[in-house]
Amino acid sequence: MEHYLDNSATTRPSDAALEAMTRAAAVWGNPSSVHHAGQEAAALLRESRKTIAKALGVPFFGGDKIIFTSCGTESNNIAMLGCAAAKKRDPVNPGTVIISAGEHPSIDGPASLLAKQGYNIVRIPTKHGVLDLEALESTLNKGISPVVFAGFMLVNNETGAVYDVKSAAKAVKSKYPDAVVHCDAVQAFGKLKFTPSSLGVDTLSVSAHKIHSVRGAAALFISAETIKRKNIVPVMPGGGQENGFRSGTENLCSIASFAAAADEISKNFDENRARVLNLRALLDERLSVLDITVNRPDGDFLPHIASITVLGIRSETMLNFLSGRGVYISAGSACAANSKKKSTALEAFGLEPDQMDSTLRISLSHMNTEDDIVALCEGLALGIASLQRKKG
Ligand code: PLP
Repeated sequence: MEHYLDNSATTRPSDAALEAMTRAAAVWGNPSSVHHAGQEAAALLRESRKTIAKALGVPFFGGDKIIFTSCGTESNNIAMLGCAAAKKRDPVNPGTVIISAGEHPSIDGPASLLAKQGYNIVRIPTKHGVLDLEALESTLNKGISPVVFAGFMLVNNETGAVYDVKSAAKAVKSKYPDAVVHCDAVQAFGKLKFTPSSLGVDTLSVSAHKIHSVRGAAALFISAETIKRKNIVPVMPGGGQENGFRSGTENLCSIASFAAAADEISKNFDENRARVLNLRALLDERLSVLDITVNRPDGDFLPHIASITVLGIRSETMLNFLSGRGVYISAGSACAANSKKKSTALEAFGLEPDQMDSTLRISLSHMNTEDDIVALCEGLALGIASLQRKKG
């Protein structure tokens, strides 16, 4: 019996998402072709876009655009690099890019690339999972070069902290109205209620495989105003698909699956949330009996993600132990696990390096059951007993 509790890394595709993928496989025409086979594919693509727009609360027939991409990483890169490429800028002093210190590597990485191109990169700290809005204000009031891009994630993938993107966006926009304010909502989609306009952002990313769709699709929302002002331009020349922002023949199987999953999570939002809240309450109760520290954000957080520190046992050791028992969780975040980079999100909790080395991430979905939580906590208890004994 397997117990999958790593839903922030990826999720099991739902039946509806798998069926939509299979149905779309039969619609194999190229959506850009004018003949009937192509137009059938174009119709499915249009329907899918409409569904994603609805799930994101974006009017379908205005100038706002939903661009399909292959993954959240690509959506974030298109927003950031497309903004950097948009305007003719002073090569010596092209401007300032603001991001939070806890961003995913798909935002932090392009920021480092832009630093090499001369941009001034400012990383706003997070304290115990709370975006430091005072630090943002003081950055904005300093004599910095004009802000061209600001990116804030809505939910942190390692701790579940919900960042106050609305206030951050307002602060940036009031000083720099022409800056592109971006939100990485990959971990928030389907778990929090928001729309790009309720957050006051110009661009926003979501990814299919985090919401029980098959992999291979994601979306980037770009507001009508951003397009009108040419604040983002395409960075990948080609056939001009996706309004020119993402050339390349669309992956219709994954896109249709993404739409089916988005429709499902939107319709079942309240029920799913109640289920996860119950599972989280059980998890918290069991962890407190085991005397395990939960790195709980000081502010708002998503019940789906729990960061825990099991002192004295390296996270990889515990992960392998649990995996041997069919219980799957992760260390920090799946992407960070591939690099030796320190986690700024965890550091902001005041964790020492040895504590960070012993930190695990449990991520829940509405597909989990109480049995999964019980199996995890039994595994943790056994792991603590046997791995600490081996050490001693
Ligand atoms: N942004 C956040 C907050 C994430 O957690 C992830 C993936 O874990 C991504 C972006 C990247 O998404 P994708 O895996 O679809 O590239």
